[in-house]
Amino acid sequence: MRVILAQPRGFCAGVVRAIEIVERALKTFGPPVYVRHEIVHNRHVVESLKAKGARFVEDLSEVPARAVTIFSAHGVARAVEEEAKRRGLNVIDATCPLVSKVHNQANRYVRDARQLILIGHAGHPEVEGTKGRIPVPVHLVQTEEDVEKLDISPDTPVAYVTQTTLSVDDTRGIIAALEAKFTDVIGPDTRDICYATQNRQSAVRDLCKLVDVLLVVGASNSSNSNRLKEIGADSGIPSYLIADGTELKPEWVRGAKVVGITAGASAPETLVENVIDALAALGPVDISTMAGRIEDIEFKLPPSLADPAPKLATA
Ligand code: SF4
Repeated sequence: MRVILAQPRGFCAGVVRAIEIVERALKTFGPPVYVRHEIVHNRHVVESLKAKGARFVEDLSEVPARAVTIFSAHGVARAVEEEAKRRGLNVIDATCPLVSKVHNQANRYVRDARQLILIGHAGHPEVEGTKGRIPVPVHLVQTEEDVEKLDISPDTPVAYVTQTTLSVDDTRGIIAALEAKFTDVIGPDTRDICYATQNRQSAVRDLCKLVDVLLVVGASNSSNSNRLKEIGADSGIPSYLIADGTELKPEWVRGAKVVGITAGASAPETLVENVIDALAALGPVDISTMAGRIEDIEFKLPPSLADPAPKLATA
């Protein structure tokens, strides 16, 4: 069986930074450190940080006063920040800089007196965080039909922002519906969307032209991993979301000559290797990586955890 790995796949710069923040906080302040919500949507990542002394909570009321508390990569509502301040928590914010950029852009639109439309999935922590950082009501739309139902007059100035795990391709139809409905609608430059989401989706589209079956390594609650699986299915290829090699069902790949593997932005490469091992247990595999974009984006750590500036040598 041939196995072709998507390029790029797996961890994005925002996830690498968030995990690094928890690990450095554990080293700098000692365990336990508290993390609000799963730092990234991956059980293996969460379990490995738990083993090092991180404690994951859904509500700040579970955090003892003055404890070191990390906000996840998805971002948090302003009210959560204020509650942390009231409780005297020592907060380190691991919100991905690209999510913060969406928050800032959304607030600029609101200051310009535009009604704000957020394209995203109801209930996703990033969407909840973004809504909670805007001081006025936000209109959430998930489909083109939702745009039709918006109770806003067509000549009202509106603006939209999107959840970062949706790509240009995901939102194209909804944006077209907004442009058809409103006379004055603006949105961010497409270059501002999350590079990792777009690159992983473009890569999987190319990969689907080469393979008979697609395996997406990622958690079932990972939005971007689910989208990768949907792209595979839309391409007409049997596509499966798989947390690790233990979930591989032999019948998925029976008779397949070429199996494609990609991984969501919160899935570590060790899990891709684990899935390859599970395939290899079924028979010989010939592994290659497709030609694709090489990413070199890195985000800075918060100043409290960054490396100290190197000392200048003295004569
Ligand atoms: S997927 Fe994009 S927005 Fe989300 S954490 Fe990664 S880099 Fe940031």
